[in-house]
Formats: sequence, structure tokens, C-alpha cells
Amino acid sequence: MSTATTHGGPQLPQERRLVTEIPGPRSRELFARKQSAVPPGIGTTLPVFVTHAGGGVIVDADGNSLIDFGSGIAVTNVGNAAPRVVERVQKQVADFTHTCFMVAPYESYVAVCEKLNDLTPGDHEKRTFLVNSGAEAVENAVKVARHATGRQAVVVFDHGYHGRTLLTMSLTAKSMPYKHGFGPFAPEVYRVPLAYPFRWPTGPENCAEEAAAQAIDMINKQVGAENVAAVLIEPIAGEGGFIEPARGFLPKIVEYCRANGIVFIADEVQTGFARTGHLFACEDEGIVPDIICTAKGIAGGLPLAAVTGRADLLDHVHTGGLGGTYGGNPLACEAALGVLETIEEEKLVERARHIGEIMLPRLRALQERNPIIGDVRGRGAMIAIELVVPGTKEPHPAGEIARRCHEQGLLALTAGTYGNVLRFLPPLVIPDHLLEEGLSILEKALNID
Ligand SMILES: *Cc1c(COP(=O)(O)O)cnc(C)c1O
Repeated sequence: MSTATTHGGPQLPQERRLVTEIPGPRSRELFARKQSAVPPGIGTTLPVFVTHAGGGVIVDADGNSLIDFGSGIAVTNVGNAAPRVVERVQKQVADFTHTCFMVAPYESYVAVCEKLNDLTPGDHEKRTFLVNSGAEAVENAVKVARHATGRQAVVVFDHGYHGRTLLTMSLTAKSMPYKHGFGPFAPEVYRVPLAYPFRWPTGPENCAEEAAAQAIDMINKQVGAENVAAVLIEPIAGEGGFIEPARGFLPKIVEYCRANGIVFIADEVQTGFARTGHLFACEDEGIVPDIICTAKGIAGGLPLAAVTGRADLLDHVHTGGLGGTYGGNPLACEAALGVLETIEEEKLVERARHIGEIMLPRLRALQERNPIIGDVRGRGAMIAIELVVPGTKEPHPAGEIARRCHEQGLLALTAGTYGNVLRFLPPLVIPDHLLEEGLSILEKALNID
């Protein structure tokens, strides 16, 4: 293969370069091995096998360099193999790899918790503990809310995604592929409407008001506020299709929670860490969650997640009631500290806004010319287009268009309850010329007649 360097990271040539068809012969060979060694339940968006990645590109085993509009699902916000992450992890791996924080603690875990207590919305007293995945963070947030309130019910929303464990798949809205055949599900989970402006029956103007009223009415009538431990919501629905709840909806739900002693949990697993042009998406409407769950973008790809929340709630749980063997592993904690330094020093919150300012106008212009694009939405570097059958709101599947992008060397992801959303999550360090080139590829892929 012909890359100029044997390392990943931002020094990789920032160019799209196709030297074989996609996937190439070496990737196809590896994919055949995958198919006999790994069950098909583990899907593949783009069957190229990666050897290096950094900045805005992914390099595959055939030497192709692809434009990355996925960031490993909003994980490598700071880019792959970001220098501050690499340096810290390399030092840590040589010093010690694991003691278990519950057995013999180390400073980096505490430093990550201090940072999150400081950086998450609200200046009240907070605590944080660390786990391994987004699902584990959400499960633990629910455990804490139940313990602190003495109540059991959890309210979630249409189009919500919260993970694949028993409780979190029960909290997730969509059956296929996340829940199909995996029941019975966890009890005491109740689902209410989300303010989805593009698909609200009476139009986007009434959406916030009506959806909040319906949600609150359902909670009052079907669950009873006094039985509800927590209301759990993504400030922008991720897997559900990058749905930004109509403005005013989230504040109304928070207000209802406050008035009824319900813990308001924000699932910022996908929206967190500068992705939306704020460090956390809740900041956009000044929302202060009682508990906030973070993961994905937190540690540049090392497995880490966090539960951060009001000290009185998190302190309620008895000693030994929370934890796990690997949670807050020292390598992952060093990576998280490297991520937070990178976000600050490379001004990635501003950078995310800049990405939105490049992408949104081009996508809106594309929408004018291309009636298959029903909606263009998103904030910062969390952007999506929702595809429809022209002249209707009937969903048009996004998979075929994603595949055309892949063939041309643009890694694009799909999403959405109806599978009709193309979502764009470039690393925040992607150079502008790759963003523009990626959008040009998309533009061609959309011309399907
Ligand atoms: C990905 C995701 C999760 C689950 O995180 P895992 O690390 O895959 O367990 C939970 N909530 C949201 C909003 C997510 O996007």
C-alpha cells in the first residue's frame, strides 16, 4: 500500500484517493473471513477493512483513502489517533493498564470526573462515575433515579435510542433491528410522543406545544406522575433520525419534571463533546439536566462512558451499589483527558459550528433542486437529510444512496425510524476541502434518475 506514513492521525494525507473499486480485493478477502468467524447479527455499513485513520480520512487495506462522514458514529470528534490522545494513552499503557478503580484508585479517573462536573450544564454540586458504554451509562442513570426517588416508572419518547442491553433496548423505540425477537422487555417503561417538527400532523408551528401537552397528559393519565422515577430523552434523537425536538418542547418537559419530583435524564451519548456546536446539546435551550449520560465522543474511541448528575441524587446510592470491573479504565481516562484538551485547544466547539455553516446552506440549496430531500436539519456537525417520495412525506429509503456514496469513497451513515435519513457526523477536525468534496459526491449520488 502507498500511504506516505505508517501511522494514522492528522498527518495522514488529507485526500480522497481510490486505487481499487470499493471494497477492493484485500477487503473482500477479509470480509469473507469475517462472514465465517462473526455472526451476521453484527452488521457492516461499509465493508472496507481499515488500516489507518486520521483527520477526515479512513485508509483501507487496499490503499484507498475515503472521506469520513461518520466518525465511527460520533466517536472520533477529535479525529482518529489524535496526538494528545495517543501520547497520553501510550504513556499510560507502559505505566499500568488496570487496577480496577474500586480496588485501588488512580488520579486520572478523578480528574475526568472533576472535568465533567465542571463542564456539564448547571453550576450546582455534581458527582460523576465512569462505566464502559453508552448503554451502561443509561442503565446506571435509571438505577440512580429509581434509588433516589423510590419510584419505578421510566418515561421515554418516540424515536428514542438508548442502547442494546435488556433495559436500554426496552427504552429504545424501534423494533427492527434493535428489539425484534429479543423480548420479553424490561417492565415499567412508558413511551410518549416526541415533538418531531417535519412529521407533526398539524405542522411544525404547533409541534412543541401540542407534543408536550400530549406527552404530559399521557404520563398523568397512564402512569401517574408520582410513580415516575425518570424522564429520559436525547436532546437530539440520534439513531431515530437526527430529530431536533421543536424549540420549547424540552423546556416544557423539564418544567413538568421539576414540578413533580421526576429526575430529568439527558442522554447525550451521541450529541456530546462539541458535536452540535455546544459542548453539550442541552446548552442550546439552556436545559440543565438532573443527570446527563455521556459516552461516544468522550475518549476518542477508547471505551468510556459517564454518568454525571446532582450530588444529592448520586450520593443517595449506598457504597458498593455502583461500579464495574473496567469502568473508568486508566487508558480510557487518559484518552478522555486528551480529548478534552484537544476540544479546548483546537477550539472544536467553534469548529463544529463552522462545519454546520458549510454543510447546511449547501444541503438546503440541494433540497431546492432535489424534491427527494424532504427535510434538512441539524446543528453544528450533526446534520441530516430526510428523504421522501417527491411531493409527499412518504419515506424514501436512504440505503441505496449511502451505497452510491460509499462506492465513490464517501463514508455516509443512515438513520431514522423509517430508514430514510442520511446522517453526517464528520470528525470535527476534517479539512474544509474534504467536506466540500463529500457534499459533491452526495449531490451526484442523489441524482438517481
Ligand atoms: C450509541 C448510543 C447509546 C448506546 O451507546 P453504546 O456505547 O453503544 O452502548 C445510547 N444512547 C444514545 C443516544 C446513543 O447514540
